[in-house]
Amino acid sequence: MAICSHLSALTALIPAAEHVCPDCVALGDKWVHLRVCQECGHVGCCDQSKNKHATKHFRATEHPVIISAEPGEQWAWCYVDEQMAEY
Ligand SMILES: [Zn+2]
Ligand SMILES: [Zn+2]
Ligand SMILES: [Zn+2]
Repeated sequence: MAICSHLSALTALIPAAEHVCPDCVALGDKWVHLRVCQECGHVGCCDQSKNKHATKHFRATEHPVIISAEPGEQWAWCYVDEQMAEY
């Protein structure tokens, strides 16, 4: 399967500016893993987290690509095409 245009356009990755989910901090909640939007740098929590802020960010903004912010994980995910790529 060919890699989608969103993932193939990914060149300089945006790292997590901080290692917290700001939306969870505001709610006083906890998260499981962190994801970073590659359009604007928004940090959100993963779908195993109660609040799923990364997915909510995609639904609100349609920014298509996130990367994992977890140490040792090197992958990107496109919500639009539901494709994963290692980098
Ligand atoms: Zn895509
Ligand atoms: Zn969160
Ligand atoms: Zn974004």
